[in-house]
Amino acid sequence: MERRLHGLGVAPGIAIGAVYLPHAEEAPVVPEAVPPERLDAEVAAFRSARLRAREELAALRARLLEEIGERFGGILDAQLLILDDPAFDAEVVHRIRIGRVSARWSIRSVLGDHARRLSAVDDLYLRERGLDLEDLRCRLQRLLRDPVGYGLRRPSDGPWVAVAHGLGPSDAVDLARHGVVGLATDVGGRTSHTAILAQALGVPAVAGLRDISQVARAGDAVVLDGEQGEVVLWPAEATIEAATARRAAWAEREARAAATPTVTPARTADGATIVLRANVEFPEEAGVARSFGAQGIGLYRSEFLFLTRSPELPTEEEHRTNYLALARALAPHPVVVRTLDLGGEKYFHDVLDRAEGNPVLGLRGVRLCLHRPDVFRPQIRGLLRAAVEPNLRVMLPFVTAPEEIREVRRMWHEEATRLRAEGHAVREDTPLGVMVEVPAAAIAADILAREADFLSVGTNDLIQYALAVDRGNETVNYLYRPDHPGVLRLVRCVVEAAGRRGIPLSVCGEMAADPAGLPLLIGLGVRELSVQPRSLLDVRESVARIDSVAAERAVEHALA
Ligand code: PEP
Ligand code: MG
Repeated sequence: MERRLHGLGVAPGIAIGAVYLPHAEEAPVVPEAVPPERLDAEVAAFRSARLRAREELAALRARLLEEIGERFGGILDAQLLILDDPAFDAEVVHRIRIGRVSARWSIRSVLGDHARRLSAVDDLYLRERGLDLEDLRCRLQRLLRDPVGYGLRRPSDGPWVAVAHGLGPSDAVDLARHGVVGLATDVGGRTSHTAILAQALGVPAVAGLRDISQVARAGDAVVLDGEQGEVVLWPAEATIEAATARRAAWAEREARAAATPTVTPARTADGATIVLRANVEFPEEAGVARSFGAQGIGLYRSEFLFLTRSPELPTEEEHRTNYLALARALAPHPVVVRTLDLGGEKYFHDVLDRAEGNPVLGLRGVRLCLHRPDVFRPQIRGLLRAAVEPNLRVMLPFVTAPEEIREVRRMWHEEATRLRAEGHAVREDTPLGVMVEVPAAAIAADILAREADFLSVGTNDLIQYALAVDRGNETVNYLYRPDHPGVLRLVRCVVEAAGRRGIPLSVCGEMAADPAGLPLLIGLGVRELSVQPRSLLDVRESVARIDSVAAERAVEHALA
């Protein structure tokens, strides 16, 4: 009988294959006493494993740089830094000599303890960094066991779906090159480095499956859906058939997008024009956005720049080159850079105050930017300098009060004056828009509209806050309803406010890609949408089937 397991879809796509357990043969590490005359040999074994791990990681890093871009190479840097750190060497060697234990045990106690401590904390960001330490620990221990072997035990040929308790980022890269077409793990989340790499490598992945590594046996048939976050073990014939059809549709969609990039507006059945743009997390996605026909970027989530640079903060120059690259890649279409939106469930970075009792109602989005000028000002300066590209626009997340917009404008002006005095070219009149994601901001959108050059409704958060439904919580997910009359009334407030003020309005939440939500947005009068690039073809086709007058009638009905 098939068994369905639900987790978090962290990299989209469908994988069908057999279970492969990359960590299955790892013997448990136990404290082994080492006689004094063998301690030198243990230290030497540790040091040679360390060197070898360094070589392997440097090679993986080079491949990442070459294949998926500069940004991703940095993900392995933390591990390389640890390997190069004399304090790490000293600590492991000290424990070997003082405790008279094996190198394997010493490494386990140095890295394993830290990793476990991080895994236990109530903080997604730190928990996921624990996986990076775990990744390094596994690599070193494999090399101690098998000094000449190349890291992870790898399958001979695919298609395999790797199943493990957790997978480190270097494992993901290694596996993706050896017949592994999907990743399924007990732990992990959307913001882990492994998830980001899986997306960039195009390997579907589901994390947070709790106990799949205990349940699955090597060679079991498995179907994995990285969009729905579902894994089916021992699938029935019909499940495999349905997944095969979905996988073919997915591949066909990718091929169609690559073959016929249509950078033209979509049209409804009765001829209304709908502008379609893409939501992206990395400048490298510019190509995908274009190939799926995006008329620009409606939302660039700049917090990912902070994530990939973590624990460092991005410099003004890094901000500038990132935004310039994206603006140039999509020109002449608009590129909307959203300023740092950390906080809430986006627990990425050390700049956040971990002591917050209720972070979802805490210091997030524009609040954090205003609270931490040391973090925000370099971003403003990078934006001002990149805005010499005329298609660049800037958008503030999580705004609830007009004072927030005024304060950003004041800082914006101050930095522009400074940059000019320093001899830089800047453009100060870049459109500054506001995201409407909080119910009160939607109801009072007319007040925010007086200060903003455009409005964009972030339905992902707006729905979460309007309905008091955590957007990442499986158990209450059934209440997350884009078509709830309360949600529709809020969106209507924003559409009307922008219309009265005569400023552009868009929707950049995933409601625009929801087959139930899309006609309602069009019926409410929304004419600009931004969704993840891979949804664009479906949205375009759905738009073509919608009659805007019929959609208006449907909205009247839904509002009631
Ligand atoms: C939203 O809230 O709808 C949105 C687009 O922003 P994010 O998903 O990044 O919170
Ligand atoms: Mg949001």
